[in-house]
Amino acid sequence: MADEPSSPPRRSLWRRYLDFPLIYKLAIALVAGAVVGLVVGEPATALQPLGDVFLRLLQMLVMPLVVVTLIAGVSSVSPARLGGIGLKVLVFYLATSAVAITVGLLAALAVSPGTGLQAPGQTDQSPEQAPPVTQTLLEIVPENPFAALAEGNVLAVMFAAIAAGIALAFMRSSADARISSLGELLRRGVDGGVELVFVIVRGVLQYAPVGVFALIAVVMAETGVDALVPLAKLTGVVYGGVAVQIGVYVAVLALFRVGLRRFFAAAREPMVTAFATRSSSGTLPVSTRAARRMGVDEGVYGFTLPLGATVNMDGTAIYVGAATVFVANVAGVELTVGQLLMVVLVGVLASIGTAGVPGAGLIMLSLAVTQAGLPFAPVALVAGIDAVLDMVRTMCNVTGDLTGTRIIARTERGMLHEPPEDGHPPGEPESGGDAHAVHSGAEQGHERSAGPPDTAERSGT
Ligand code: ASP
Repeated sequence: MADEPSSPPRRSLWRRYLDFPLIYKLAIALVAGAVVGLVVGEPATALQPLGDVFLRLLQMLVMPLVVVTLIAGVSSVSPARLGGIGLKVLVFYLATSAVAITVGLLAALAVSPGTGLQAPGQTDQSPEQAPPVTQTLLEIVPENPFAALAEGNVLAVMFAAIAAGIALAFMRSSADARISSLGELLRRGVDGGVELVFVIVRGVLQYAPVGVFALIAVVMAETGVDALVPLAKLTGVVYGGVAVQIGVYVAVLALFRVGLRRFFAAAREPMVTAFATRSSSGTLPVSTRAARRMGVDEGVYGFTLPLGATVNMDGTAIYVGAATVFVANVAGVELTVGQLLMVVLVGVLASIGTAGVPGAGLIMLSLAVTQAGLPFAPVALVAGIDAVLDMVRTMCNVTGDLTGTRIIARTERGMLHEPPEDGHPPGEPESGGDAHAVHSGAEQGHERSAGPPDTAERSGT
């Protein structure tokens, strides 16, 4: 039997799913997940494993990603240059965190989110402890890099990878032909590793809508409207504070003449992923992919993003500021200027020692409340809705890391390229949003680019 002569090739459902732009799939998943969680309630928590798979897939990539991007990045810039980039990004991260905690404090002082609420009786929950700062700093140098890798200690792995990257740079420029050719060989292997990780990231992102749907549904089902309503003011302050902070990023990006449309076209995927996963470390593979799409060199993002995921938490700082005022309100305590300054200090310092994992901010809040000498019982109220606050603060944390990364790339010579051909999985045409990203990149004539805009157009996808 002959085939029907002129029937157009039918696209399979899977093909259509792949062709539908990722960001729309994520947006639909986000809204549908929230609705299902709120309407269905408790039974929706059965979706948890579907969300956990997504988290695990992302976490599976974090450590390999940090190792290969850092070694590749560091071996392509000089150590002196790396020091300069490091200093710049640390100043940026510290300054934005200080702004963020001030935003959180001021917004909460203006609104008094806790007045009129009753603290629950004595809580048996004791203040959580954050590790002391000196220990955190010391542990940056790993005794055993393989153990650090296995334990997921990002800062220690970064330290070892930077050392390896510097050594590799020396090998490649060695006068001894044997050493330099071995250096080249290693470098090619590492480059291959980077690409390998990103091919997996793209595959994982096709699962992201399912993961996002499940994670949001579970949070909404567990928190429920009943818990949210009495604390609506605090939730409003934290969400409003994050909106202000994103306004600050927009202003800084505009100041450095970074195209906002192109920035957010790339940043929105990690923003949604952070919102759903509540982990800036887990979002690292997605934010790294976004930095590549912005055209940032791996000499910058390989270093600034893992560092940011660990030490830069602007959204968390807003939350610590706002929630501390909330605790004082509930306890009926007037905060003194000294206590406020203490909160700022603890907020900024604690963010360095706490990892980008779900709920880490609650530990920082406990620390700030204890340091400011406030009663601990009202923290239990905050803990009840912590997941909902965690979503938005993690999104803010990741946006802050990407803003810092993009600004550093803008101010460093040769660290900004047209987006690489980042090879979609066979048959995955990139979404309209990305075509747009390339296009608006071409509009940015003032930005340094490594080639004419048309070289960035992707072929064969
Ligand atoms: N979940 C946040 C993050 O991963 C930290 C926090 O709990 O505030 O960035």
